[in-house]
This record gives sequence, structure tokens and C-alpha cells, in this order.
Amino acid sequence: MPEDADHADRAGNRRTVHRSCSLCEASCGLVVDVVDNQVVSIRGDEADPFSRGYLCPKGVALQDLVADPDRLHAPVRRRADGTWEPIGWDDALDLVADELTRIRDRDGGDAIALYLGNPITHGWAPVTFIPMLIDALGTRGRYSAASVDQQPQHLLAYLLFGSPLLLPVPDIDRTDLLLVVGGNPVVSNGSIMTAPDMRRRLGDLRRRGGRLVVLDPRRTETADVADEHVAVRPGTDVWLLAAMVQVITSEGLGHPGRARQFVDGLDRVPELVRDVTPERAAVVTGVPAEVIRRLARDLAAARRAAVYGRLGVTQSVYGTAAYWLVHCLNILTGRLDEIGGVMFATPAFDLPVIGAATTDLIGYDRWRSRVRGIPEFAAEFPLATLADEILTPGEGQVRALVLYAGNPVLSAPDGRRMEDALRDLEFCVAVDHYVTESSRHADVILPPTTSLERDEFDVVFPAVSVRNWARWNPAAVRPGPGELSDAEILVALLGRVWRRTPRFRRTAGAREAALRRLFPRAFVAAALRAGPYGLRSRGPVRGLSLRRVRRAVHGLDLGPLVRQLPGRLMTEGSRIDLAHPVVLADWPRVLAGLAAAEQSVPAVEYDLLLIGRRHLRTNNSWMHNSARLTKGRSRFTMQMHPDDAVERGLLDGGTAVLSSPIGSIEVPVEVTDRLMRGVVSVPHGFGHDRDGPPTSWRRAAALGGASVNDVTDSARIDPVSGNAAVQGVPVRVDPGRS
Ligand code: SF4
Repeated sequence: MPEDADHADRAGNRRTVHRSCSLCEASCGLVVDVVDNQVVSIRGDEADPFSRGYLCPKGVALQDLVADPDRLHAPVRRRADGTWEPIGWDDALDLVADELTRIRDRDGGDAIALYLGNPITHGWAPVTFIPMLIDALGTRGRYSAASVDQQPQHLLAYLLFGSPLLLPVPDIDRTDLLLVVGGNPVVSNGSIMTAPDMRRRLGDLRRRGGRLVVLDPRRTETADVADEHVAVRPGTDVWLLAAMVQVITSEGLGHPGRARQFVDGLDRVPELVRDVTPERAAVVTGVPAEVIRRLARDLAAARRAAVYGRLGVTQSVYGTAAYWLVHCLNILTGRLDEIGGVMFATPAFDLPVIGAATTDLIGYDRWRSRVRGIPEFAAEFPLATLADEILTPGEGQVRALVLYAGNPVLSAPDGRRMEDALRDLEFCVAVDHYVTESSRHADVILPPTTSLERDEFDVVFPAVSVRNWARWNPAAVRPGPGELSDAEILVALLGRVWRRTPRFRRTAGAREAALRRLFPRAFVAAALRAGPYGLRSRGPVRGLSLRRVRRAVHGLDLGPLVRQLPGRLMTEGSRIDLAHPVVLADWPRVLAGLAAAEQSVPAVEYDLLLIGRRHLRTNNSWMHNSARLTKGRSRFTMQMHPDDAVERGLLDGGTAVLSSPIGSIEVPVEVTDRLMRGVVSVPHGFGHDRDGPPTSWRRAAALGGASVNDVTDSARIDPVSGNAAVQGVPVRVDPGRS
């Protein structure tokens, strides 16, 4: 039973536990009612100072994950005929350690790769222990979901601010003007911006007289509550943003203010954007030049303002350059590290500082990928090239994979090739709750407990939060007999790998014992004491201890964001080099791309541009087995503008075939004027009933739909960050069978 008596109100066999939701970055406070060790209800915690009672449908559905009859509770091993048999934990972990170290000792460490899915950021154990596993295995083959999402943001955080985790977020509760570029925070509840109940926060912004402007090819749910929606052609944000910077610099509207004291290279920006005029940008973006000028002037003139860019910006072939321009707009108009602008959180567990002190993984282009020569970043290669590394023979070919909480068959571009690659592996271990489209190719699956069954301390999301907070999350229910948490699995595996690794063999036992003794409580307690609210604090919150955090059952509010620059910078001399050589080296490609786009007529064959879409009830692929979240009308549709539908003879509710040079999928047509002409939108994470061995999530498999990543191309990346360019993919659409 969880020992946090102060978190649980008990009455007989009933308990009420307060903790946060682990399904997305918003980290909403939950009230979990438990009877006889079963979750009977989940509500929003009204007393949570941050989320104030808000929760979305996914938060309620956390209980579905705990009680799901399709979930694995013990390890399984794949038989030769493809069926699964139970295997004990000790045997499973021995087998995994034997195979991984056998392949490493035969072919070298780089023959092993790790793919880390998005859920790992919601648990302290994977964040802490996986780097140790990578070190023990001696591999450079690390891949993660970040490289199909936000890698340009991490890269620029490293290049400009000194740590991939120093990510400025809009000070949304105090700003007067918020420009959202290629993001849909009403549905994502913030993304690289922890901010529960985004709809209320944006409503508050407007109620206090502020303005919300959304730039997106689709009239999103965020655009629905905005003052203005500007439709932008997918993949062209880089030139739109450059033209806005051009207006600000050419019209003398810049006012960097305090940033002049610690930002170098400001004088280089005007010459870079000089020729990207609003008129030229208008041709390629579809945004009229006068609108571009007005947006730039409004941004410069606002008392407090912030530019927030997300997937539309980062998931393009110019992801790094485009996101750099987001930083330029914020810096040139004096918004960086200013109240109501974009600011850095001050997390009690100071992840950027702890990360820098405990790993040597941070760097850029110290080595390149074997097959495509893509630069590493933070000791990681892009997911878009993992299949190449598995399927291409030669020294360093990946032969074994640790698939941790990820489903790359559905989430990586060119998912069919990814599936071919998984089939080709000599050995694969998956850490997963289910037999999924990806883990079905593993030799062993190790299922961890769910977040409600383990104590957690949020170590990641306070670092990108719009308000400072800390929270201890006690387990709500006991795991079943013999079930292991991520921490227990990883420590047991680490111990075994260390014992099979000459340089660690002598100390393996002591290391393993130390991990069990120190993590998480002693380590978190020490980190809090050494952190910004700990013993050295000179602010209003001092001497913060783990005991105090644990006693704050609704979460501990640590106040609004505060100015921290230049002291917070982790760069040499605590300075920002805005004209960073990595960005400058890529700039000719941006200008050449503009010139080419001005000339080009749409390719006749692939005449539409594909974008993604998110729904409040979906969480990539991995909550599709929840009946609560998947009931009702199917969310898997291809949205298309009415004129585009008429041109192709398509009707709302009919079926179409969506094709690219990579492949084709069938899609139900949803005709809507939410899309700009020439653009179609399909959500990812569907297509669970694809050909191949059966999976264990029966409801997901019955959902229908197809994987949009069967038409996206793994060759389309931002070459600087390696991020997959899955927005603005050229496609064609033809009538389907019915
Ligand atoms: S927005 Fe929904 S999924 Fe995200 S933390 Fe809150 S309740 Fe959970």
C-alpha cells in the first residue's frame, strides 16, 4: 500500500488519492477514488492550484488502462510460430541481458539501438535509468519520439541557451498578445508548454483585453476561440516568419531591451531576412503581404506579447530555421525573459542543471549516422533513419533493439518500412503494456505497471511549465502480485547488463544496490535541497524538502515565472549567440527554397499537401484501447476543403484513396471549410488492424482507420535537427471504392 497517508483519505476499504495525470504534459491534478484496490472514479482536483479542477476525457480514462483486460501483466516470450508464452521475470530479464550483451560483444555496441517513446518523459525512472543503460551497452544508437516532433526546439535550446531543456514558454497568464504558429493548444493543452485548461487560460487572455491570433492551414479548435485565424500554406511558416522579422528589422520596429546585454548577433539578422519581403512570402505562404506586415507591427507594438510555435513549425524540412525565427521574433521585440513574453520555468527539480551535471550526452554533430550521415544531437539520431540503420548491411548495422514505450510502426514516417525493419532484427525487447503493431515483432515484452500503480515525481514537465510547481504523486492502487514498475525493470536489467560488462562487472552489485537505495526518494530529496528553492534559495520559497512537497497533497505552487537571464543561460559566458553558425550554415537553403517555391507550380501528380490533426480524446496511438475514449463517431477522417472535394468527385462520408510515392491508404472523407484549399488533414496513430501477427489490444484493432505514416516519407527531414517533416507532405487523393 502506498505509504503517503497524507495523500489518501481513507474510510474502510475506500480511499481517495490526489495525484496528477500522466497522459500529457498538462499534468492536471486528479482526485482518484479507490474501492477495494479498484479505481472507481477520477475527477479533476479543484484544490490543485495549477489545474484548478480541469481535466480532459483522457484523464478519466487513466482507469481504463489499469483495468484493461487486454493489458499484459507479466513478461511474455514469442514462440517460433509467432504466438506468445509466459515467462518469469528472472528468466525474461536474463534472456534480454544475455541477448543484448551477446550481440554487443559480437558486433559492437552500435549494433544495439534504443527507441524511446513519448511516455518515458512521464516517469522519473526511464528518464534517469535509460541513459545508464545506454552507457552500459556502449551504443550510440539512441532514437526517440522527439525527432518526429520537437527536436528543432531542443536543438535551438541547446545552441542558443546551452541546454536542450532550457525551453522558453509563453507567459500565457500575463501576456496581451499570443501568436500561435502551427499549434493547437486548446486540444493539446499546451505542448512544450505545460498549461492545464488552455481554453480557460486563452479565454482569460481575451477577457483581460488581450488578443489571440492563430496561424495554421486548418481552422483549429484554438482558432475557434481566437480573435483572428490566418490560413498559412503547410510547410511555408519559415518564409512567413522570416518576412515578419524582415518587417520588424526594415521598419526599425525592433526593441530587444534588456536582451541587448546578453544576446550577440542581433545585427546579423536584418541582412539574413532582407530579401524575404512580405510580397515574396505572400506568394508562397498564401498570406497577403498586408496581413504579414500587420502581424509584425502588432507584435512589435503590443505591451506584452509572445510567439508560440509548434508542430507546423518544427515538423517541416526547415524546422530548425523556422523555429529560430520564432526566437528572433521574441528576442527582437523584447519578449524573451520578460513578464508576459516567453520565459523559463524554475523547476524545483532542476532538470537542465541536473542533466548537464550527470550526463555527457549533450552536444551536436560529434558523430553522424552510418547510412545517411545525419548529425547526432544529444547523443541521438532521428527516428526517420532507424529503419535504414537496421536494414542496411555493414559494420555497425543495428541488429538488436530496445523498444521502450513506443510504437514506431504507427509513429515513424514510412511505417511499413519500419515494420520491415523490426521483422529483420535479430533480437528485440519491448517494454510495453500491450502487444502492439510494433511490439508484436519483439522477442520478449516486459510490461511495466501503469502510472496509477506507482509513486511518481514529475521531473520533466515543471521545466516547461507556465507556472512553477512541484508534485509528489503517490500510487493510487497496488499493482498485482509480481508486477514490476519501470524502475524495478530497469534496475534489474541494468544490474544484469553490468554483470555481463567487463568494465562494470566488479561494481555491478554495489551499483544496483545504490540505485535501489537512492531512487527516487533520496535522490529527489537531494535534488530539491540543491535546487532553486533549496538551501541556497534567496527567494520567497526556501529550504524546500521532499517532505514539504509530499505534504502538499494538491501540488505545491511555487509562483509565477520570474526573470532569470542571463544567469540561467548555460552557454559559454552566459551569452546567446543569435547568429549561431549552425543556423547561418543552413540559411542559404532557406533562401534557395523560397526562390524555388516562387517558381514552382504544384506537381500534377501530388497536388495536395497533407497535415496532421489531434483530437482531445486521442493520445497518439496508445489510448485507443479505451472504450471511453473511442466511443461515438470515428475520429479517423480525411478533412478536405469543399472545392477540392468537388474537383475530385468526393462526397462527405465517402471513401477516398490518399497516396504519396511511399504508399496509399483508404480514408473516409470529411468535407469541411476548416481546411484551406489544397490541404488535407489526417490524424496519426490509427490503423491498428494492419496485416501481420495479431496484437493484444482488441478494441484498438476494431477501430478501423489506417496509419497516415504509411504515406509519409522518411527521407523528408529537417537536415539540421533530423526532425521528420511530416507536415506539408505532397499527396494525391482519388475516389475510393464506395
Ligand atoms: S489535459 Fe487530459 S491528458 Fe492531459 S494531463 Fe490533463 S487530464 Fe491528463
